[in-house]
Amino acid sequence: MTTGLFLYMDANTYDCMNCGACCRCFPIFASAQDAELEPRIKRETKHLEPHLQTDDKAYLMYPLPFHEQCAFLKEDQLCQIYETRPQVCRRFEAGSEQCIEARARKGIGN
Ligand code: SF4
Ligand code: SF4
Repeated sequence: MTTGLFLYMDANTYDCMNCGACCRCFPIFASAQDAELEPRIKRETKHLEPHLQTDDKAYLMYPLPFHEQCAFLKEDQLCQIYETRPQVCRRFEAGSEQCIEARARKGIGN
């Protein structure tokens, strides 16, 4: 999505535009590979202590102190690093159970 975690929008039901609920709801992690692809992840998120890291989790993107949403979600709910967003963001599907939960938590109707 040009907003939130996923480009595809189900035009009938789930509109990612003006949403971004999934980018400000659940904990979001990036891997070391994600950070190699997008260096801003290294600069603008929290590098986890080595004993907390896994193959998929090396950087915490949300929640972070003083951020109410992922550090890369702009005010217009667009992703600043869309082309190089982490794999977890690429896998997230509009209309999925987590999507529906995120929207509900943030008071966004379907
Ligand atoms: S990087 Fe952040 S703003 Fe971009 S899609 Fe992922 S969670 Fe959303
Ligand atoms: S919560 Fe669902 S509809 Fe909203 S931006 Fe994320 S994937 Fe799109």
